[in-house]
Amino acid sequence: LFAAPTEFLKGVVAMDGLPPDDRLEVCFAGRSNVGKSSLINALTGRKGLARASNTPGRTQEINFFTTTGGPYLVDLPGYGFANAPVKVVEKWQRLLKAYLAGRASLRRAFVLIDARHGVKAVDEEIMALLDRAAVTFQVVLTKADKIKLEDRERVLTQVRGALAKHPAAFPELVVTSSEKGDGIETLRAIISTLE
Ligand code: GDP
Repeated sequence: LFAAPTEFLKGVVAMDGLPPDDRLEVCFAGRSNVGKSSLINALTGRKGLARASNTPGRTQEINFFTTTGGPYLVDLPGYGFANAPVKVVEKWQRLLKAYLAGRASLRRAFVLIDARHGVKAVDEEIMALLDRAAVTFQVVLTKADKIKLEDRERVLTQVRGALAKHPAAFPELVVTSSEKGDGIETLRAIISTLE
């Protein structure tokens, strides 16, 4: 899946811009700065691949990446921008809802949570959206290298507690560090075995 280069396919701003629903796909969601671009780059082994989604003006796009013979990797817009105009937030929430509810080939959403901070209110919102759209989601803890081992268990407990309230949550967590490479192979394996 990740042997040959993953390529950026397109950025989508409206439902009619989605590529054909002709293969499986997985999506990545997380508050801005959670480490989403870094994770996608680590997964695909391509530094800078997912940077496009972070450049100003492109943050509202749903970005599609192709893998070799495998699912699309879909980078959803980062959420939790404190200062984003209400109209902009509403527009992407509409697109996001339409995408999540209407994409038959979407097999799993990975919700990225900073390993230091655990689940926040904005993460609960996206999880509730996923519940409503009946999209199975799995939490990926990011930046695990930034938390001491003795603090990790406390965060894991908080996250598991939060997940218990969400019917669409997949119980198993993936702990990652894009910086150190922890959990990246595990995540690749999870994506590779989806059917
Ligand atoms: P995004 O906004 O969610 O796409 O976040 P980025 O991938 O751009 O990362 C935000 C910041 O966190 C950057 O300064 C990254 O270098 C840093 N970062 C991302 N992943 C890791 C990680 O695994 N470990 C550490 N220590 N820093 C990370």
